[in-house]
Amino acid sequence: MRTDTQLISCGNCGAESRFPAPAHAEEREPPDLDTRPGEPLRATLPFWIKRCPACGYCADEIHTVHEQAGPVIDSQVYQNQLSDARFPEKANEFICYALILERVGQLADAGWTAMHAAWICDDSASLEAAALCRQMALRAWSAGKVQGQAFHETHESEFLIVSDVHRRLGEFEHALTACNLGSEGEDLPDLLDHCFRLERALIARKDAGRGSLRDLAIFNTSAGD
Ligand SMILES: [Zn+2]
Repeated sequence: MRTDTQLISCGNCGAESRFPAPAHAEEREPPDLDTRPGEPLRATLPFWIKRCPACGYCADEIHTVHEQAGPVIDSQVYQNQLSDARFPEKANEFICYALILERVGQLADAGWTAMHAAWICDDSASLEAAALCRQMALRAWSAGKVQGQAFHETHESEFLIVSDVHRRLGEFEHALTACNLGSEGEDLPDLLDHCFRLERALIARKDAGRGSLRDLAIFNTSAGD
């Protein structure tokens, strides 16, 4: 992948640093059941987060910062998380950003950021670390729902995502419960209906691996693909 660099000044401490800027990537493959994009966009995941080398501020856009983020970044919990040996380096950056988002009340986004950390862990086959990140995501989303924060388009799609996260955690009963809750409606859109079927099939064979929408019949119209 061709990369350029960009000079960015940190919104928290003002330090200027260079960051790689990946070439534009689209999503040509279908996404996963947990919404992780297909390739080639999928491979750009490590570029979705930046860390200021001076103060440790991590965010998708570090030139700007929430007014309440400063004390979080300075906290021992945050600074320890930056080098938590249980997680790959990039996962720590996503988790740190999730800590900030959680503290400023953006719980749905905190959950997604924890999911990004989980995907980094998946890519480095850090299974326990990935599980911790998925639990973080579920906690943040659940806390967000209590406050009326949606983390996806509809209740049904939220249940599908929650089901998939439980399945990836090996929590097949919880996964099935979420599947049932999400698919009980009368007029489920076709795509979602197919996704729930795929999810159930994976749960039935206790498969905790990646579930891709490319395995859906509707994406498999070309023979031999
Ligand atoms: Zn900084």
